[in-house]
Amino acid sequence: MPLQPLLTRQLKRLGLDPEAGAPDAELWRELLRHVSRAYEEHDQERYLLERSQDLASHEMAALYATVRADRDLLDERVRERTEALHLSEGRLSSLLSLSADWIWEQDGELRFTYFSEGIETASGIAPSSLLGKQRMSLSAFEAPAEAVAAYEACIDERRPFRDFTYGITRPDGVRRYIRISGEPVFDDGGNFAGYRGVGRDVTQATIAEQKAHELARYDSLTGLPNRNMFLGELDRTIARARRLAASFAVCFIDLDRFKNINDTLGHGAGDELLRTMAARLRAAVRDSDLVARLGGDEFVVLLEGDPSAADLDTIGDKLLAAIGEPLSIQGCVFLVTGSIGIGLYPRDGEDAATLLKHADAAMYLAKDKGKNNVQFYTSELADLAARQFEVETALRMALSRGELLLHFQPKIDIASGRMVGAEALVRWAHPTRGLVPPDEFIPLAEERGLIVPIGRWVIQAACRQIRDWRLAGFVAPPVAVNLSARQFASDSLVDDLVDALALYGIAPVELEVELTESVLMADPERANEVLQQLHAMGVRIAIDDFGTGYSSLSYLKRFPAQTVKIDRSFIRGLPSDQDDTAITQAVIAMAHSLGLGVVAEGVETVEQLELLRRLGCDQAQGYLLGRPVQARDLAARLSLDPTAATRVA
Ligand code: C2E
Ligand code: MG
Ligand code: MG
Repeated sequence: MPLQPLLTRQLKRLGLDPEAGAPDAELWRELLRHVSRAYEEHDQERYLLERSQDLASHEMAALYATVRADRDLLDERVRERTEALHLSEGRLSSLLSLSADWIWEQDGELRFTYFSEGIETASGIAPSSLLGKQRMSLSAFEAPAEAVAAYEACIDERRPFRDFTYGITRPDGVRRYIRISGEPVFDDGGNFAGYRGVGRDVTQATIAEQKAHELARYDSLTGLPNRNMFLGELDRTIARARRLAASFAVCFIDLDRFKNINDTLGHGAGDELLRTMAARLRAAVRDSDLVARLGGDEFVVLLEGDPSAADLDTIGDKLLAAIGEPLSIQGCVFLVTGSIGIGLYPRDGEDAATLLKHADAAMYLAKDKGKNNVQFYTSELADLAARQFEVETALRMALSRGELLLHFQPKIDIASGRMVGAEALVRWAHPTRGLVPPDEFIPLAEERGLIVPIGRWVIQAACRQIRDWRLAGFVAPPVAVNLSARQFASDSLVDDLVDALALYGIAPVELEVELTESVLMADPERANEVLQQLHAMGVRIAIDDFGTGYSSLSYLKRFPAQTVKIDRSFIRGLPSDQDDTAITQAVIAMAHSLGLGVVAEGVETVEQLELLRRLGCDQAQGYLLGRPVQARDLAARLSLDPTAATRVA
């Protein structure tokens, strides 16, 4: 049998022939060593093989474990994601069902292909009426042109769009407003496949917005354009007139004594009056003329088309006639009048502010000229304004320069003939004009906001005078100071009084305040609040110039006043004028029945005084009894205080 090749090789290497006889001992040992090494080598190889097999299988196992872990993780992730997706889908659909929003989709032809149910709930629009249609082809689709253009540009360029709002009329005729946002959808190949987005019913918000917009332009009481809209129109009219070299007129209309009617009859009646006047003014001019309400009882009419002076005269008269027609409110008939000022573009002003200011100044001139008339702006008015400005500037300095002073006019007790009080009347010792009476600067001070510091000065000067008389040993009479409207409305009045009293150590009962009806009626509630404060302090309160306003004594009685001063326009007619006599008599009787004292103002004759005495009037004030004089001259009429006699001596 043939030998194993390995063995044959070993034998050959040793030079042994297996066919020959047995080798010698040395060769035999050598052979055995070779055979043994061959076995060892074989063992070695097998070990290496087994070892490497072993290693490979370990790696495989480890790899397998990793793969399995990865797969588990992936499974877990997928599960989580699926859950999250379900959750968010659920959330979305529940939110969608709760909110006023819905989702819509369009195909590549922009035809609606899907609506979530919200659209029907929120807007009452059935998706079936929209599906398959394009938005822009909807018959009742409505939106401002600019908004539509911007929206269409987005669609044309396949861009997203936001908050496009449009109106739609439902099949049942109800109008709804819809606001949509959307973004384009592209398929995997990048081709445009339509739009999808959200929609919301914004009907309520849109209507509220429109209302607010209207409110911002129209006066809610009369329905006329308001100041805002008027100013806008005026600017446009000026621009147009400038371009066409045309002229136009602005008529400023103010109702006379509206405030009195409003205060006496209440705001409901006042509102009715304003509505009626608005309608009458509107009807008195052409449709193309703008009639606006600037606020309060101020109206304005804009007349275009180069009106001539004669035209304007006619229109002014027409407007006055419209205002003046008898008016019945709450069963009473009223005769209301108006004062009208006219300014012409470009003659009286080339810009809105100047033109308005001048028409307003002309209106004031109409008031000055006795109301119920029409005045044009003139150069005299310009002069007047310039003069007023001069006076205002000088008046501002009068206080700091010490140019103001007080005169005092006695109030006499008719029965005893004794002086029982004095009224402090302010004067301005103007460096060039001499002594200026209050009527010539108090209204201006009031208008230009100077009345508060001037009034404060008057209060202080009156208190100082009371103290000075006392220091000089006289029995100082209570002194009355006049308060004007703005001064009375200012927050500082009570403090000013308290401070002045404290500064000069004067008791509140030694001071009296005089307020006219119109000051009280400007804001009766606040007036009452302030008067209650003064009353609680102990300051006396008198109602001045009674009879010139529209209010009744019984109404005025709600204020804590102690005295009524009958206006001198009634006293003037005594005793010959029967009406004046009757009125004076009635006021005295009524005042007494309400527990009020009565002072007659402007008593100039003995006859007047006699009649007043017979009518039971308590006190009198007037040139007959004493003109307003300087403090030291009044002192001559004061009695000496016996307890202070030593001081005087
Ligand atoms: P009033 O409070 O009714 O003051 C009475 C006015 O009648 C005073 O005019 C006085 O000089 C005038 N008078 C007095 N007796 C007669 C008379 O017998 N016949 C005529 N024809 N007039 C007489 P006056 O001082 O020019 O003051 C005018 C108005 O100015 C005052 O009317 C008052 O409303 C206001 N006034 C005066 N001083 C002040 C003040 O300090 N502050 C404020 N806010 N107003 C003042
Ligand atoms: Mg007075
Ligand atoms: Mg008076």
